[in-house]
Amino acid sequence: MDIETIRTEALTCTKCRLAETRTQVVWADGNLDSDVCIIGEAPGFNEDKQGVPFVGAAGQLLDKLLTEIGLDRSQAAIVNVIKCRPPGNRDPQTDEIEACRPYLSAQLNYMRPQVIITLGNFATKFILDSPVGITKARGQIYARKGASIVPTFHPAAALRGGRFGGISTIDAMREDFRLVRNVLDQRRAESKSSDEAKQLDLFG
Ligand code: URA
Repeated sequence: MDIETIRTEALTCTKCRLAETRTQVVWADGNLDSDVCIIGEAPGFNEDKQGVPFVGAAGQLLDKLLTEIGLDRSQAAIVNVIKCRPPGNRDPQTDEIEACRPYLSAQLNYMRPQVIITLGNFATKFILDSPVGITKARGQIYARKGASIVPTFHPAAALRGGRFGGISTIDAMREDFRLVRNVLDQRRAESKSSDEAKQLDLFG
């Protein structure tokens, strides 16, 4: 099935209880044809109203962090582990995550991104397929299915103003976003030199 058909199906999904309380399904924002996929947890109040992920305060912080590494929403896709808002912004439940799994999997299969940024515990556990918490997981790059995975805190945690290992949560996120910049630069340099090698073969 192509991604547009899956999106159309998702927009009227009734596979879990969240269909009863949502205003609308929040599919994605940004560019699904880009190299970077950012995965959050679940839509909040504003996202549920507007049908777009990360439009509230956490989204503004995310945009700022992206700008600082020279990216914007045209150069990254922004999605969530679950596509409907849990009532009162409670945590997603395991059966809701499982019901929604095919949608995120389809988005990732379509994109085959070079870099996946996971924001917070739910996205990180989903992608690493491990119970590891974000505090332990962040600060490193993981390889999964051809992508470099960069786990970081959820921007809502940075907005709450916590500290981590002697630095603010936001500065820890800045460090993680610098890892993203480095991975992208490195991957682009590698693909450029392999293109040049092909050119040499052509003319050799
Ligand atoms: N928090 C998330 O995890 N996702 C959103 O889309 C908004 C806030």
